[in-house]
Amino acid sequence: MPKRIAVVTGANRGIGLEICRQLAEAGLCVVMTSRDEDKGKAAKDSLVGPHSDLHYRQLDVTSDDSVAALGTYLNTQFGGIDVLVNNAGVLFDDDRVDASVLCVSLERFRVTMEANFYGPLRMCQALSPLLRKSKSGRIVNISSGLGQLENMVDGHPAYGVSKTSLNALTRLTSDALKDANVLVNAMCPGLVATDMGGPKGRPVEEGADTAIWLALLPDDGPTGGFFRNREPIPW
Ligand code: NAP
Repeated sequence: MPKRIAVVTGANRGIGLEICRQLAEAGLCVVMTSRDEDKGKAAKDSLVGPHSDLHYRQLDVTSDDSVAALGTYLNTQFGGIDVLVNNAGVLFDDDRVDASVLCVSLERFRVTMEANFYGPLRMCQALSPLLRKSKSGRIVNISSGLGQLENMVDGHPAYGVSKTSLNALTRLTSDALKDANVLVNAMCPGLVATDMGGPKGRPVEEGADTAIWLALLPDDGPTGGFFRNREPIPW
């Protein structure tokens, strides 16, 4: 059986790097991407082991050209892909200046939406033709509890709205790809000890676990859902 091909954004550090490690360990061929080529290649080299089938491509999810070039590379190199993990994300909200929706700058909103929402949207649009070629395609969107409408309170407004938007993209994409056996889900990793999450978070191994579970779902698995710790959570 041919190896399944996975593509991960923001793979040079944090949760993205750990997702690549666990997918490679599960036997997938993993295309690691990052906006900084040196950091991405160093991250790939840090993972090389006896079972790893790792590739590297530079990718800035905020660039139409960069995403299109990745699509061309994947089509030429592999002919299709099986798993897309939209992990790359930014959290710019400054607790002092941008804590409230009533004073956050519109520019802060724009740059956050560009990476956290338009980035995954670009990736889904560019790579869905390649996912359609898979017998069992999967998209995993790395979202956040801060995007949940149910308990939403003021604070981190740009980040929160960008993740709510990513959740909506999850629902729309799930429906758009339901005829192609591509399962599309969002997950919240919890507070994870990365540059973004800070030292009090849980280990990346735990933060990545639900994303790996969603990437490896069987064909009768869920689609259009939002999960934390492998359990559904409210939108
Ligand atoms: P991180 O350590 O800050 O890593 C973020 C990654 O995204 C980096 O590789 C970064 O690349 C990349 N990135 C940012 N903008 C990009 C762009 N335009 N193009 C390509 N890559 C870009 O954060 P993390 O904690 O691992 O977060 C990973 C995901 O989990 C994010 O979507 C985040 O919102 C989500 N999340 C994290 C937590 C947490 O507690 N850590 C909680 C909930 C959700 P550079 O190195 O070049 O900056």
